[in-house]
Amino acid sequence: MALLSRRSFTQKIVKGTAAIAVTSQIPIAQACMQTNKKSLGIALVGLGSYSKGQLAPGLLKTKHCHLAGIVTGSLEKIAPWREEYDIPENNVYSYENFDEIAGNSDIDIVYVVLPNSMHKEFSIRAAQAGKHVICEKPMAMSVQECQDIIGACNANNVKLAVGYRMQSEPSTDRLKKMISEKKYGKPHFITASAGYVSRGNPDQWRLDKSLSGGGALVNMGVYAIQGAIYAAQELPYTVTAQEYSTNPNYYNDTDETITAQLKFPSGTVASIDTSHNAKGDRIFVSCENGWIELTKAHSYGVIKGKTSDGTIIDSGPQSQQAKQMDDFALHIKEGAVNKAPGAMGLRDTIIVEAIYESIAKNGAEIKLSL
Ligand code: NAD
Repeated sequence: MALLSRRSFTQKIVKGTAAIAVTSQIPIAQACMQTNKKSLGIALVGLGSYSKGQLAPGLLKTKHCHLAGIVTGSLEKIAPWREEYDIPENNVYSYENFDEIAGNSDIDIVYVVLPNSMHKEFSIRAAQAGKHVICEKPMAMSVQECQDIIGACNANNVKLAVGYRMQSEPSTDRLKKMISEKKYGKPHFITASAGYVSRGNPDQWRLDKSLSGGGALVNMGVYAIQGAIYAAQELPYTVTAQEYSTNPNYYNDTDETITAQLKFPSGTVASIDTSHNAKGDRIFVSCENGWIELTKAHSYGVIKGKTSDGTIIDSGPQSQQAKQMDDFALHIKEGAVNKAPGAMGLRDTIIVEAIYESIAKNGAEIKLSL
């Protein structure tokens, strides 16, 4: 928990969401009892490209959890998903009857994979149904929404994780270990880039602020923020930021490209950049006696890089999503560490809001009290 927060949000959150606890219909015991299962059942909420392309295939490779149910608003997706993943009819829900999942003992974990504006509602409904929750990144549209989700999970005694797959990724762990062991000395300057070129439908939800909460920063920038923090291994205390656009007609509602600078208490500085119109998949950590670089830092598949003394970092082929979901299942079953708790999503959302605030104030330095 060291890199989550310097202050405890718990009391405030629980107070603020007392109503959620009171209205919960499900006995707390249900979520706890299920921890005896060998493999936990996951229901995916939202069967879009990430569920179809990454999470469901990843769930064929997990050891401690499996795909047990689906929640969808698209009738035509039900038959092919049921057939491909052998999902019983009783484990299929719509957004409307989703709350009935409370009575389904096949489902232990609800994984929310919807547009960002729907994360809060479905995470809270899942918690109120007595199910553990994985909420995709970005955790929510605002700091307040993150607090509401955390409060609902606490009040209903269920576990919560954010879909930060890099927190379970072996090459990333290796980078963290090299830094914590000071293999190349203390990090002085960190660069973290996360971006891709968004083409196609200008009406996609990611470019609609009311559905996404923001542009590149909330979608990809969270990887760069995460990278800067796990490279620095401390929390930033100030941020400055700038926004640019090379194609303002296409990116007319959400941010296209953002750069930001984070200062850390020990003197380490990080420069992050994120874009929906430029590629970025890199973490570079310049330390006092050398450097560490991941040149594939958060894309799917192999994460790899090298260091100033020629050491190769390469995790090999793997499903990051399988590792991430197994880690969360082990957290529920055996009390293993929660590698991406809700407090981490909240922390990153505080930084995201500070970056937007800095941009709104023409690059002013914004203090962070994390
Ligand atoms: P997507 O557009 O492919 O799928 C979204 C799903 O939500 C679809 O099934 C769609 O039918 C459904 N939906 C319900 N209401 C909708 C509405 N009003 N507008 C649009 N779709 C609606 O999106 P995706 O790429 O699967 O992303 C889903 C979530 O997963 C997002 O929060 C995203 O940030 C996250 N994600 C995370 C990763 C990761 O690596 N961790 C990768 C991709 C996406």
